[in-house]
Amino acid sequence: MPNKIYLSAPHMSGNELKYIIDAFETNWVAPLGPNVDAFEKEIASYVGVNEAVAVSSGTAAIHLALSLLGVKSGDKVFCSSLTFVASANPILYQGAIPIFIDSEPETWNMSPDALKVALKEAVAKDDLPKAIIVVNLYGQSAKMDEIKSICREYCIPIIEDAAESLGSLYKGKPSGTFGEYGIYSFNGNKIITTSGGGMLVSNDIGAMEKARFLATQARDPALHYQHSTTGYNYRLSNVLAGIGRAQLEVLNNRVDTKRAIYKRYYDELAGIPGIEFMPELERTFSNRWLTALTINQEVSGISVNDLLQTLAIENIEARPVWKPLHLQPLFEGVKFYPHLEGVDVSKQLFEMGICLPSGTNMSENDQTRVIECLKSSLKIKEKNVVGY
Ligand SMILES: *Cc1c(COP(=O)(O)O)cnc(C)c1O
Repeated sequence: MPNKIYLSAPHMSGNELKYIIDAFETNWVAPLGPNVDAFEKEIASYVGVNEAVAVSSGTAAIHLALSLLGVKSGDKVFCSSLTFVASANPILYQGAIPIFIDSEPETWNMSPDALKVALKEAVAKDDLPKAIIVVNLYGQSAKMDEIKSICREYCIPIIEDAAESLGSLYKGKPSGTFGEYGIYSFNGNKIITTSGGGMLVSNDIGAMEKARFLATQARDPALHYQHSTTGYNYRLSNVLAGIGRAQLEVLNNRVDTKRAIYKRYYDELAGIPGIEFMPELERTFSNRWLTALTINQEVSGISVNDLLQTLAIENIEARPVWKPLHLQPLFEGVKFYPHLEGVDVSKQLFEMGICLPSGTNMSENDQTRVIECLKSSLKIKEKNVVGY
């Protein structure tokens, strides 16, 4: 059996142990400490926001953002449908009601057209959402200008789920800094990792102070233990923040590598009929966290599921595109607004989409193995591929 090729494995820089040892030597083995403070400052400065609050996961960061926006039981929250379930679970934590918005084909992210229709209907029923969660899939930014201007019209705050898009840009500005709040994830499979962790970012310094308060059990300023609101235990460990600091040092390098991996797949496979790569919208810069593409079965002669199986036999981990949340049993009966009447873009992307191994520590030979397996599955001899 050849070695396993993972979708996106953790990739240490080598500097992590220095920060971990420092945490141990100073005995800051706690959910606070110098690494946490420094990691927050470093992320805030990297993306250019006033404040960052380090938390135990990206999911926790979304939950805090909803809390800060006063989302409570019975409130509506709009959310991208084509995403990981973690984008929407915190809506349920608050007892609020999600409403899912379809993707559009140019970014695979929230369709401004669908959003417009959804908000028009909501305002007519006097039932506007309290917040909108906009996801940047696989590193590609959503159409933020369009989405922001629609949200501004109705005064709806945006939470930008940039869990997958740290290091990406939209018109030169860092991904995650377009909403009232942005969130990043440092889960093991993300572009940089703390093994598990997340970050909430915002320019609202007062709100971020409140985020720290909520994330540490909401303890009132009193000598004894006094609490007047529900808090959470969401702070990031000082040991793990140390890993994050070393990872952040190589983030730009990781983005370059992810983009080079994408480019090689593109150069080798884009000529095969029936294959289309996830686009990169003009004036955006994607970190290409995962290389994603769609396969038209009628043209290519193979289904996504068969291709995934063929890759699995070769010990290559590939994955389907996220299953849209409006198609999940968990969200059965939840309202969904398609991109166009009768056109469900996220469902099409789910049915045709595949994510290829994109780990920055994947060797050139490993990527060749993936490419060869894809080429032979797609029944295309190398010499027949356009340009090769
Ligand atoms: C990974 C991810 C999250 C959740 O982050 P965790 O740190 O795993 O909680 C949220 N949204 C998206 C789009 C993700 O990919």
